Amino acid sequence: MEEKSVLLRQLPSVDEVLHSPGLAGHLAGQPRSLVVDAVRGVLERRRQSILTGANTALPSREDLLASVVAETGKTLDRQSRPNLRRVINATGVVLHTNLGRALLGPEAQQAIQMAAAGYTNLELDLDSGRRGSRYAPLEGLLTRLTGAEAALVVNNNAAAVLLALSTLARDREVIVSRGQLVEIGGSFRIPEVMAQSGALLREVGATNKTHPEDYRRAVNEKTALLLHVHTSNYRIIGFTRETSVAELAALGREYHLPVMSDLGSGFLVDLRPYGLPAEPTVQQVVAAGADVVTFSGDKLLGGPQAGIIAGRRELLDKMKKNPLTRAVRIDKLTVSALEATLRCYLDPEEATGRIPTLKMLTLNRDRLEGKAGALAEDLRRRAGALAEIAVESVFSRVGGGAMPDADMPSLAVCVKPRPFTAERLAAALRAGDPAVIGRVQEDRLLLDVRTVQDGEREILAGAVTAALQEGVTS
Ligand SMILES: *Cc1c(COP(=O)(O)O)cnc(C)c1O
Repeated sequence: MEEKSVLLRQLPSVDEVLHSPGLAGHLAGQPRSLVVDAVRGVLERRRQSILTGANTALPSREDLLASVVAETGKTLDRQSRPNLRRVINATGVVLHTNLGRALLGPEAQQAIQMAAAGYTNLELDLDSGRRGSRYAPLEGLLTRLTGAEAALVVNNNAAAVLLALSTLARDREVIVSRGQLVEIGGSFRIPEVMAQSGALLREVGATNKTHPEDYRRAVNEKTALLLHVHTSNYRIIGFTRETSVAELAALGREYHLPVMSDLGSGFLVDLRPYGLPAEPTVQQVVAAGADVVTFSGDKLLGGPQAGIIAGRRELLDKMKKNPLTRAVRIDKLTVSALEATLRCYLDPEEATGRIPTLKMLTLNRDRLEGKAGALAEDLRRRAGALAEIAVESVFSRVGGGAMPDADMPSLAVCVKPRPFTAERLAAALRAGDPAVIGRVQEDRLLLDVRTVQDGEREILAGAVTAALQEGVTS
């Protein structure tokens, strides 16, 4: 008891800590109120640990002050770091929703910089001097690239589906195959979005098979729309029958009903030449007769987060007038980045070299070997004493709920720390800045080089080395 009160009296005052020279280096750019709160927090924790702790050794006043100052400095450094931090993605998942999905290419980055730093003609028609539409810079590009008559862009594809259903089918029925009642991550489920939009879901067929006849039998005077949902994040294989968009379009013409296709991860170039699965492109779905197509901006398209709606002008005009459009509208940064991304597709041959998502998906074996070899060598040189380093064959994934059955052969640098577990190494790397995210497998940390960007190798090797060294000393 006696000792505890001595210890408590030894604790420095807030002012003493604030004026300690040891703290000076941590104060730059930190608001005073945050600094004072940090000091108070550290002192309070010390007080509590003295009160609850058993036989605490009695440090000198100087030592106690120094350790409080050091802890405060660490707290200040931590709280001055932005909460949204850069991450080196060594998971091999190209469109990792948790890591922000698509990376933007140089053109889109420059466009965002331009739109962020200055005023733009976002809603001003520079020819007439009158009010313009924020969708105008995008619509011409989208109709050209997709073959659709008109286009509209909203906040994300979930909003695009909601807006389309609410405009075309509120209080009326939408016919969908039971095998296409998709759930995408983050609570987007077709039946729930349908309910939210005010449309009535009319499920037809069985999980594995839905025939054109099933749709035909369900058509009645309340039917507003035939909906096809691309089962982008799972596959139904075996004894199956899906009614295609072209078959739905034929039915739609017969009954004068519009047909909508939610493609999810819509894309504009055929990636089969690179060994990826055959998936319908937006152009193909439009050509097959879909009246409305919805897809994401930040999945395989490789642009900013957005939901793109392309289709017949008459239907798109109705959507543009729906007040919901205003609630889910895109901002100028999205307009700028999406325009720059779409422009890259005007020359489809060029697009795979300019859109980071496509570049990563189409990396050839030579490039992967080069990247893995260089990283492994760098790591062996820096940290060979602390870990076993090897290069192994792995499979990367597309991610973002796209092409779930595409296994892309890739290479990973595997790090097996000698003195501690791979889990601990992974945790240390997550705490770094930039954070590094890999995969832990059989007590090794796997760093898939497909998603490691050019120019990140040195930072990555430095981070792994520092984490290994820290693990040894702490
Ligand atoms: C991903 C996806 C969505 C949702 O798109 P977001 O852009 O993430 O809102 C909707 N439908 C399908 C089929 C999808 O794959």
